[in-house]
Amino acid sequence: MIESTSLAAVIVGAGHAAGELATSLRDNGWQGSILLIGEEPFLPYHRPPLSKTYLSGTATAQSLLIKPPATYEKAKVDIISSMRVDKIDKLSRTVLLADGRVVNYDRLILATGGRPRRLPISHIEQAERSGNFHYLRTLHDVDRIRQQFEPGMRLVIIGGGYIGLEVAAVAVRHGLKVTVLEALPRVLARVTAPELSAFYESRHRDAGVDIRTGMAVEDVQMDPSGDAVSVVTCVGGSTVAADLIIVGIGLEPNVELAAEAGLSVDNGVVVDEFGQTSDPNIYAAGDCTNHPNPLFGRRLRLESVPNALEQARCVAASICGNPKAYSSIPWFWSDQYELKLKMVGLSQGYDQLIVRGNPDSNAFAAFYLKEGQVLAADTVNRPAEFMLAKRFISQRTKVDPARLADDSIPLQDLLPNS
Ligand code: FAD
Repeated sequence: MIESTSLAAVIVGAGHAAGELATSLRDNGWQGSILLIGEEPFLPYHRPPLSKTYLSGTATAQSLLIKPPATYEKAKVDIISSMRVDKIDKLSRTVLLADGRVVNYDRLILATGGRPRRLPISHIEQAERSGNFHYLRTLHDVDRIRQQFEPGMRLVIIGGGYIGLEVAAVAVRHGLKVTVLEALPRVLARVTAPELSAFYESRHRDAGVDIRTGMAVEDVQMDPSGDAVSVVTCVGGSTVAADLIIVGIGLEPNVELAAEAGLSVDNGVVVDEFGQTSDPNIYAAGDCTNHPNPLFGRRLRLESVPNALEQARCVAASICGNPKAYSSIPWFWSDQYELKLKMVGLSQGYDQLIVRGNPDSNAFAAFYLKEGQVLAADTVNRPAEFMLAKRFISQRTKVDPARLADDSIPLQDLLPNS
């Protein structure tokens, strides 16, 4: 425990990592002040529902708050919303706010997340200024999208990743005519095996979504008013008419603040296992970090809620003098239609895929093995197998592929010491 009575902790960003950090600092005994500065006009809120229940209209903005205001008040966390931090001065240990205020810190934590990758086309500025072209990262983005989310509208989604496919599922159920344009030969190509991509493509097509793979977007055309994008053009010349366009082609970590301050940056703010940056008074957590993962023996930059929360807790403990190394198995979830996908581990380098159960039943699991060891698993509507898969991965379990593939053998029985 450190003597923190008169010390100031300043957290930049007010997302998942920041909200967790603020209260975890108090829980870990931080006695000094805690100030959270976020550029969005909200308290930290759940982002995953943005492309799911909030887009579909079944969740309210109020219900997205991660913690009620009273929790921050009780933990004596001061919050400045709608305010950007523009600069860090490491020598004077101050940050400069967009309104010109200068705030002192003893410990600074960067929880700046990321922003949507911009579509790399020549008319991008004009498209982004138009009223029907959207990215999807914030509550405001979805509020704008929902104003145009009308049955019969021709929605073109650029990018067949999780966000694009979740939006497609909501939109087609809402009566929109949905086309998904994916540049690679299959959807979810960066994160799942071809078998899973084929499963999701087929479910979306069954629901009425026009999934077009191998379609790299080259440009857009504006309507005669110049206020709206009306056509999306792909490499090779094919065109798709659109009333509404949503782009989901990945995330750029917000690292400029760190880079300009001279911190080490490499696809994320470079931190050690305690979340400490190259400056001992500055830490970072969440989507913006490039951090070591001892279990997989390499550095990772993850974009997931569990990563943001767990890393934030380790950073808070470490700042308070109880160093806690961040070492966790990455996991993620995605809801599309009635399909609850949960993925755990990292599948890169797998040499065998074992599918348990029949995908036609919409409840199955796919295990990624390397030399018989479980690296990762994707489970669809099989929450119990997801929990067990975590144990296989953390225990570096080697399995008999034939027994793993036999759905009549309980997964539990394949764990050592079960
Ligand atoms: P963020 O939540 O992005 O918060 C960062 C905050 O910092 C932002 O509010 C930003 O405006 C602010 N900020 C940045 N720079 C500054 C600055 N200079 N000054 C002040 N404020 C600043 N993850 C899952 O695990 N499961 C899911 O199903 C899932 N679905 C998702 C669906 C959508 C539509 C989106 C957008 C994300 C989804 N994610 C999901 C990812 C998850 O939301 C992120 O991993 C998580 O939000 C990361 O938290 P964070 O605190 O690192 O960053």
